[in-house]
Amino acid sequence: MAIYVQKFGGSSVADAECMQRVAQRVYDTAQEGHSVVVVLSAMGKTTDNLINLSKQVNPQPDAREMDMLLSTGEQISVAILAMALHAMGAEAVSMTGPQAGIATDSSHTKAKIMSINPERIMANLEKGRIVIVCGFQGLAPSADIATLGRGGSDTTAVALAAALKADRCQIFTDVDGVYTADPRIVKQARKLDSIAYDEMLELASLGAKVLQSRSVEFAKKYGVELEVLTSFDRTPGTIVKEEVEDMEHIVVRGVAADKNQAKVTIQRVPDRPGVAATLFKELAAANVNVDMIVQNVSEQGHTDMTFTVPRDEINRTRSAVDGLLEAVGAAGAIYDVDIAKISIVGVGMRSHSGIAYQMFEALSEHKINVEMISTSEIKISVVIRSAYADEAMQVLHQAFELDKNSKPAS
Ligand code: ASP
Ligand code: MG
Repeated sequence: MAIYVQKFGGSSVADAECMQRVAQRVYDTAQEGHSVVVVLSAMGKTTDNLINLSKQVNPQPDAREMDMLLSTGEQISVAILAMALHAMGAEAVSMTGPQAGIATDSSHTKAKIMSINPERIMANLEKGRIVIVCGFQGLAPSADIATLGRGGSDTTAVALAAALKADRCQIFTDVDGVYTADPRIVKQARKLDSIAYDEMLELASLGAKVLQSRSVEFAKKYGVELEVLTSFDRTPGTIVKEEVEDMEHIVVRGVAADKNQAKVTIQRVPDRPGVAATLFKELAAANVNVDMIVQNVSEQGHTDMTFTVPRDEINRTRSAVDGLLEAVGAAGAIYDVDIAKISIVGVGMRSHSGIAYQMFEALSEHKINVEMISTSEIKISVVIRSAYADEAMQVLHQAFELDKNSKPAS
């Protein structure tokens, strides 16, 4: 019998009606003759609400107690689904992460899965039961419950699929797959049949919040193929998998915008060894996630240094940088929050040239000015004025013909 792991996110289990829809889906999968392991998130906004509740009694709750609290959300979900399945006449049993054999490290609220002992799940599957496991949690070495960080149920599902050597790992969510661009912004956006792990990772880090990045890294490491699909109807989703050769025929797989960035320019820094090290050491100490970095051509011993940071870290950045300006001998700093980062992603870029040129030309034809550029093997990102972000997405989507189906390499 094939083993299916089916994970349902918070919006798919938001209320009793949703739970019944999920129960039906799970029941049908079992009726088709498969062994089913279900992983659930907390219902709707439960986790957010629990966090808010804790903050009302203590602005800095203890991490162990936080895990005690947050892990309850998933427990509600699994018990309710088991009851719904029982009402349909199915045999089903719910389990917490620890009961399911999931062991984590000891970093409360951001724990990593260390190992899984699948014996108890397997024994129940062998008895013909549907097994429903709490996502986002496991047992720390101290025998306390630990959670995996926001969105961690995806990682639970992938880890279970790897440990059980599952035949399928399906991630049900409120979108019906992975698109070439955000369909709310680009009307011609198209659902992809498949996407490579690396492309998904780039898109996830760019703000396409379909899957938790860590779950994709995990899936890549253990070769678990994922299917992203909706629980609201029966349309096929998008497969996230190992890169295969024909994927390279499509040079650009998707376009994404990150509108939560800010740009910092440090003016007239002396061009000598150690200045960049001093600056970025201070930013690292302030826990700022620096992304793109550009240093311009040196002029009479001075240079401008520009970098981007997440917009909600701009205050931390400002205190770190302002305190250093004098020490490094810089003339001043400019903080700019009106920017957006637009990126194109595709594994085919490894084997095709001229993509950057095509991107810049398309933008320039629409009078969109490029302020910063960075590239990786499978991604090109530019910083532009935030007011042009949506237009840039549409322009690039069209320029790379992402609205058309799989186009062979020209
Ligand atoms: N309930 C947790 C969260 O909201 C875990 C998850 O949904 O994956 O982050
Ligand atoms: Mg979630």
